[in-house]
Amino acid sequence: MNVTGPYCSQRRTFSFCLVLISFLPGFQLAAQETRKARPGAPFELNRRVARNQDVAGIVQEIDARNIERMIRKLVSFGTRNTLSTQADPNRGIGAARDWLYSEFLKAAENSSGRMTVEKQAYEQQKSARIPAPTVITNVVATLKGSQAESQNRIYVVSGHYDSMCGSPTDGKCDAPGANDDASGTAAVVEMARVMAKYEFDATIVFMAVAGEEQSLLGSTYYAEQAKQKGANVEAMFTNDIIGNTLGGNGVRDRRTVRVFSEGVPSSETPEEATVRHSVGGENDSASRQLARFIKEIGEGYVPHMKVTMVFRRDRYGRGGDHIPFLERGFAAVRFTEPNEDFRHQHQNVRTENGIKYGDLPEFVDYPYVANVARVNAANLAMLALAPARPKNVVILTARLSNDTDLKWDANEEADLAGYEIVWRETTAPVWTNSRSVGNVTSYTVKGLSKDNVFFGVRSIDKQGNRSPASFPRPLGRTAPAARP
Ligand SMILES: [Zn+2]
Repeated sequence: MNVTGPYCSQRRTFSFCLVLISFLPGFQLAAQETRKARPGAPFELNRRVARNQDVAGIVQEIDARNIERMIRKLVSFGTRNTLSTQADPNRGIGAARDWLYSEFLKAAENSSGRMTVEKQAYEQQKSARIPAPTVITNVVATLKGSQAESQNRIYVVSGHYDSMCGSPTDGKCDAPGANDDASGTAAVVEMARVMAKYEFDATIVFMAVAGEEQSLLGSTYYAEQAKQKGANVEAMFTNDIIGNTLGGNGVRDRRTVRVFSEGVPSSETPEEATVRHSVGGENDSASRQLARFIKEIGEGYVPHMKVTMVFRRDRYGRGGDHIPFLERGFAAVRFTEPNEDFRHQHQNVRTENGIKYGDLPEFVDYPYVANVARVNAANLAMLALAPARPKNVVILTARLSNDTDLKWDANEEADLAGYEIVWRETTAPVWTNSRSVGNVTSYTVKGLSKDNVFFGVRSIDKQGNRSPASFPRPLGRTAPAARP
């Protein structure tokens, strides 16, 4: 069968072809043989790599039954409102906190000491949804990377374990929060359980935060601490409301997950805005590159799932735990189910006119939550295995030319193989073209003008793992008035 014909012409990116090819019988075997036959083969232009067997193993090990058990357990605490009791061992957010801590500790047992677990607590002063000073605790499991040059590079995946009924300040009412957000929390704990056994170059942080319904308090605290410490948080995923597949609109969709990413960075400076006004880039923030990466990898490793990129920070009038990260200059995205049912979010549990309201376990689609966890896990694994995205990527603008001159800093990783230039039409949502250029730190794309397409640069290691793309900033004149 000819798979390189209409689908895999050189105008398509690698992963699009990979998805197609991976459906063919014998693909994995053939790919393995290629790798065995050519140990340590030198980096080649446009060499296609096999699926990473470890990542495929992680995807396979994620278990919907664990996720269901954990969601039901979280619901069993009655309420997890941030203002609920923290001293009762059976009810309230304190009981949920301690149970999550013990689950992460169990996961860490299989990590040969690489995973550490902590309760990150602080006292939140009175604020709009906090009537009296309240301790807020994030439960944080850190799986340390094994590569010296990469272990300071951090990927955070999070869900919020607090819940609410109709009122965010009611700490007494039942607030099962099965979907919002026991679903995201359980997905994160299951990822920790599976991934703790594997080694990655970079560090992965699995986190359950509190105070989300009180204005993103727990995630704000973590992000602010990270910023103050100068931590290199390369990407953050929040999983919030990832369990319902029957929308209030009547649409049943078990195969789609939405990934929200902002275009213009929340942290953009006036100087950066001036550059963007001049040459574009409103569709090329680090978070948007992350969303493109997630779509490629997620659909490549979990082919029955579709990643729908939504090019906005979040839904209308809504927010999530990725926002405090964005505001501090970290790339971050939000995962959410495709069609929400608002009868089952932030509602007092009740039946009215024959309609059941409340965020109950019976409305959660557990195999679907597992699939969203698989999309997350494949991406975290690939990000933490791949080299850092190239730094300080610039497009030289000093000479007027129909060629494009790109330049970047050399990566530090010992297993780096080289770099890849990607590009797309300025109106295209995803990278459509790529060219491997070897282990160099500058490259001229002949006959392709920077005026007509967008460029990016990715780094690749010797196993063929690719970083997300870095979008170049112009070096030289950019102001529209510079040259008429
Ligand atoms: Zn939520």
